[in-house]
Amino acid sequence: MIRFGKRALLGAAAAAVLAAPLAAPALAQGQFPTRPITMIIPFAAGGPTDTVGRLVAQVMGQDLGQTVVVENVGGAGGTLGAQRVAQARPDGYTVLLHHIGMATTPSLYRRLAYDPINGFEPLGLVTEVPMTLVARRNFPANNLQELVAVVRRERDKLNYANAGIGAASHLCGLLFMKAVDAPMTTVPYRGTGPAMNDLVAGTVDLMCDQTTNTTEQIRAGTIRGFAATTRERVASLPDLPTAAEAGLPGFEVSVWHGLYAPRATPAPVLERLNRALVAALRDENLGRRFAELGTAPVPVERATPAVHRTFWQEDIAKWRPLIQAAGQYAD
Ligand code: ASP
Repeated sequence: MIRFGKRALLGAAAAAVLAAPLAAPALAQGQFPTRPITMIIPFAAGGPTDTVGRLVAQVMGQDLGQTVVVENVGGAGGTLGAQRVAQARPDGYTVLLHHIGMATTPSLYRRLAYDPINGFEPLGLVTEVPMTLVARRNFPANNLQELVAVVRRERDKLNYANAGIGAASHLCGLLFMKAVDAPMTTVPYRGTGPAMNDLVAGTVDLMCDQTTNTTEQIRAGTIRGFAATTRERVASLPDLPTAAEAGLPGFEVSVWHGLYAPRATPAPVLERLNRALVAALRDENLGRRFAELGTAPVPVERATPAVHRTFWQEDIAKWRPLIQAAGQYAD
């Protein structure tokens, strides 16, 4: 097996450009990847980030001619997995599929063992997923208004599951508790995959999670959906009212996902990974599966490092004052 260091890769890429200035491939064939790539998912298996990541990894692997192996590194609201990638060798063999937590972590965590902004090279946006407010099947309410009344009455006797501070479920829960002005006891998990198991079992009461995790459970009746936190109804759950329709206007949050490499990964490698991402987003089976789960791949013009970087920076700036005003810190 041949391994290419950063200098060798750059040198090879420069040579390729000199030799063939028109439509030159950034890497000569066979240079990258020559072995499997690891995609870190910073949450537990079986959850929504994992679901999106596995679908993307499979098609990227076909395009790259190498398996993209998913590894779940959950815990601490996604920061453990992000740290693993920020500190990985920047050779393209370790990538991160993460969500909106990349935009909230810099404000929520004042001390981290990695740089949550400059530690990464964005590769492209992947998808934006609606959230839903869900409850255990036998929760004593028939609609959102009744649920809010129960939450206000029972307050901290109720359990609210989330995937740790900075997770989408945490943010969505915060917005909900603020909207109804009632705190609940939060139960953190390594991801909302295991949290969903407990919600189905009825050992926790409520959760806010992506449709990529809740659509099939709501449809099967193993949990109850009370609202979609989007402006429009979600196509995969047409009977589910939006929060505004159900009486909580302004309770809106959706979750974007992006793909990242460690900082200083060579440009030709980034370019190759981006091409594989775009191939995944164009894949019909992936599109169909995303649609079944209430989401869609981003248009491919948004799956670029430049668009991703700008969007990410804007989202960091959007969340910072909200988090500071809420006085929420993870440490
Ligand atoms: N949906 C989770 C969150 O709250 C994470 C996951 O397990 O994918 O951010």
